[in-house]
Amino acid sequence: MDTFRHKGLRNRLVQEIAQKGITCNKVLRAIGNVPRHMFFESSFIQFAYQDKAFPIGAGQTISQPFTVAFQTQLLNIKRGDRILEVGTGSGYQAAVLVEMGAKVFSIERQRELYLKSSKLLPQMGYQLSFFLGDGYKGLPQFAPFDGIIITAGAPDIPEELLLQLAIGASMIIPVGRKTQTMIRVTRVSETEFSQEDFGKFEFVPMLKGVVK
Ligand code: SAH
Repeated sequence: MDTFRHKGLRNRLVQEIAQKGITCNKVLRAIGNVPRHMFFESSFIQFAYQDKAFPIGAGQTISQPFTVAFQTQLLNIKRGDRILEVGTGSGYQAAVLVEMGAKVFSIERQRELYLKSSKLLPQMGYQLSFFLGDGYKGLPQFAPFDGIIITAGAPDIPEELLLQLAIGASMIIPVGRKTQTMIRVTRVSETEFSQEDFGKFEFVPMLKGVVK
């Protein structure tokens, strides 16, 4: 259930991330609309509107709201854009993308998390396509995408994913082993890519293969 109190806490969170540098109103509105507490176990609900990452089981975390907003802002989504997300996790980032009018394809490698989020989000009214699989491979059968967002720390930029970008589209990816640099790679032409750097972040690692 989403109560008046939750909405109040969410408004405070929106102000907090705006102060930290999120300027896109569409992103702020989406963060203000998605009931983040519904992605938490009931005993941890008081943590839902702090600007922090939090454990979601299977050794994974729901990303910090600022980070979700930051990556989403870098994507520059337009309504109807087809977006590939790697690392469904709790499904919170995916819900923010759907809230912004994107058509979302989200991949998760851990069955437990895939099962949980593919049940929860439709119950909350968020429609998107869920896949259990290895995000390093992407979804060539659904490419090209208008944007790709990676929500785990990748050791390098996966080439197979670059080839799934439409021309003019970007991939937002935290790259690095211990800490990561947020990178936006844009496909300028069939064969050319440009790269921009947006500072340091910390993510759980992007790993190969599927956990059944
Ligand atoms: N977007 C999520 C963040 C979850 S943390 C959210 O909003 O909650 C990152 C997730 O990426 C974890 O669930 C992890 O299992 C997943 N992951 C890591 N490597 C992956 C890969 N190669 N393919 C798909 N998912 C991956």
